[in-house]
Amino acid sequence: MQIIDGKLVSKTIREELSNKIKEAQERGVQFKLSVIIVGNDPASEIYVSNKAKGCHEVGILSETVKMSENTTQEELEKAILERVNDNSVTGILVQLPLPKHLDSQSALKLIPPEKDVDGFSDGNVGKLTLFKNDALFSCTPFGMIKLLEHYNIPLAGKHAVVVGRSNIVGKPMSLMLLNKDCTVTTCHSRTPNLADFTKNADILVCAVGKKHLITEDMVKDGVVVLDAGINRVDGKIYGDVDFDGVSRKASYITPVPGGVGPMTITMLLYNTYLAGINNETRRV
Ligand code: NDP
Repeated sequence: MQIIDGKLVSKTIREELSNKIKEAQERGVQFKLSVIIVGNDPASEIYVSNKAKGCHEVGILSETVKMSENTTQEELEKAILERVNDNSVTGILVQLPLPKHLDSQSALKLIPPEKDVDGFSDGNVGKLTLFKNDALFSCTPFGMIKLLEHYNIPLAGKHAVVVGRSNIVGKPMSLMLLNKDCTVTTCHSRTPNLADFTKNADILVCAVGKKHLITEDMVKDGVVVLDAGINRVDGKIYGDVDFDGVSRKASYITPVPGGVGPMTITMLLYNTYLAGINNETRRV
């Protein structure tokens, strides 16, 4: 059994990115990420500060636009549009969740797909569905694909079972695996007898948010397991997969923490790099 080390892969990707960014900057390409945060949610503040630190580490310019809890929809949309119309800004991200009085959907719609480094926009999801090369992918599933690639895990023809169908993790992961020639089954809360599906998985992806939903008896020998779940119980973090039991059968498995989690911000940096490169290509 091999542990998939997300911290190590993330470090490797950041080092590669840093070199690529330097090279691109030498030919005049700009990379700048604008992160808009509204209110004082402590968890969001930590995420935003980690995003800014990540940008600094790989050489991407970043700005954090801090707006008060009382920001109106109009003020938020104005701040987004200013960045949409600023050619020096290559990536825009609105930190979610927004305070309840704001309509996140209509705000996010203002970000054009080419600057949507979270990969959440209709345009990027459409491109992913159509298997277009210039899509910016949702960061957590994109990170899971990079982990599989890093460990040279064969995907074509494999049966991938994805548990969870959210718009930001499960659904895009299913599409990305389909794009990699897997045969994909997507399970969700209405799937009866989940184990009937998970037992047939060559690749098992969990993105549910339920501690230890997947146990040893629900998987087959040799399965590759990617666990995106983050479940905080009594100050400790657990995955959706019972690591101790399932790792007895798995050929590869991500731990929680230290597996999928470290990849998410790294893939945001990667998307910001791609957005800058795509912007250069459009200008030529
Ligand atoms: P959501 O709550 O949006 O989606 C959860 C999904 O799980 C839904 O599709 C739901 O089905 C399904 N589900 C719920 N219960 C069951 C069940 N008993 N059996 C099968 N499927 C079930 O969560 P997210 O996708 O946003 O996040 C999933 C997990 O990943 C969370 O723990 C979250 O914290 C973590 N996460 C980690 C990230 C990282 O950086 N590592 C980033 C984003 C999320 P239905 O659609 O029918 O309701």
